[in-house]
Amino acid sequence: MTKIQALVSDVLDGHRLTEAEAERLLSATGRDVWRITAAADEMRERKVGNTVTYVRNQNLHVTNICKNLCGFCGFGRKATDEGAFCHDRAGIQEQARLARRRKVTEICLLSGVHPGFTLDTFVDIMHWIQEAAPGVHIHAFSPDEIAHAAKRGKIPTAEVIARLKDEGLGTIQGTAAEILVDDVRKVICPRKVPTAEWVRIIKECHNAGLRSTATIMFGSCETPRDQAEHLRVLRDVQDETHGFTELVTLPFVHTSTPLFKKGLARAGPTGREDLLMIATCRLFLDNIDNVQVAWGKVGLKMTQLALLSGANDLAGTMFTDDVTGSAGVSGSDYLDPEDMERIVHDLGRNLRQRTTLYDLVPEKKKTKERA
Ligand code: SF4
Repeated sequence: MTKIQALVSDVLDGHRLTEAEAERLLSATGRDVWRITAAADEMRERKVGNTVTYVRNQNLHVTNICKNLCGFCGFGRKATDEGAFCHDRAGIQEQARLARRRKVTEICLLSGVHPGFTLDTFVDIMHWIQEAAPGVHIHAFSPDEIAHAAKRGKIPTAEVIARLKDEGLGTIQGTAAEILVDDVRKVICPRKVPTAEWVRIIKECHNAGLRSTATIMFGSCETPRDQAEHLRVLRDVQDETHGFTELVTLPFVHTSTPLFKKGLARAGPTGREDLLMIATCRLFLDNIDNVQVAWGKVGLKMTQLALLSGANDLAGTMFTDDVTGSAGVSGSDYLDPEDMERIVHDLGRNLRQRTTLYDLVPEKKKTKERA
């Protein structure tokens, strides 16, 4: 029995992985990769069974003007840059109405952190969406956007969170986490909130009753040790708040990003790393039930392998994703549930639509549409 075999067998027997052990899993090569993914698949079956879920959602891009201009992002622009946009009420409501026609249950704001936006702007955007798509779940605003609104309004972040909740925000985005190690953040996203601030704000959200996703953006310039530290930070938060709904793995898409062009990052994770990340998340994050694979970033065939390596959720239909598209991936915008069903049934598992908070949507006649 190899050391890795012994380790994953211990995990299946109830051992809680340490950060150093997670680093070993993330660094594995050869047949150990299959040993780890097989153990993660078994853990997935024990924890959440054989149902694979997805949410019928639509991304809504408000603006690509962004104060952060992170090196790993091909989407953010300065206001004066070619291609910079900021939708007004009419533009936002047009997208929201389209989402409603597409029968989505969730609208996910995917936008830059506009330097001019305030808490009132956030609230206006939510109201416009609610007006055009009543009842839809709004999934929006990362800890970095909350910090920005608090700073602009000279008010505590708790006040921002309370108002967003009062005005009908459904869940918070656990984005802007990237890698929660400050030495890495100084390279990939120096203008975003530092680790301690991200953690403080996400806990504040959870404690206020707003749940969030947890995310990891990996494969740029961080090491397996940094990745393991990031996962440990997330696990510690979850031990305390139980506010994360899922872990979303976001492989770095390098092609059109300043970080890659300057030689400061590699060309994203390999397939081995993609699968090991999914598997390690499943085995290390024993307090987060759902592990999501980002089909838009890894493609459909790798998505299916991820479902064999510990993942149980396919994220959403999305309909549009200019963030991934701007980084250099084509075909990342829409995945029809029928295509999801094809890869899920091929594995002998069943696909179910869920809400943002992982309640299963009652099954009815399937829709195939792209309005
Ligand atoms: S990742 Fe987000 S915050 Fe960073 S530049 Fe892109 S849009 Fe802005």
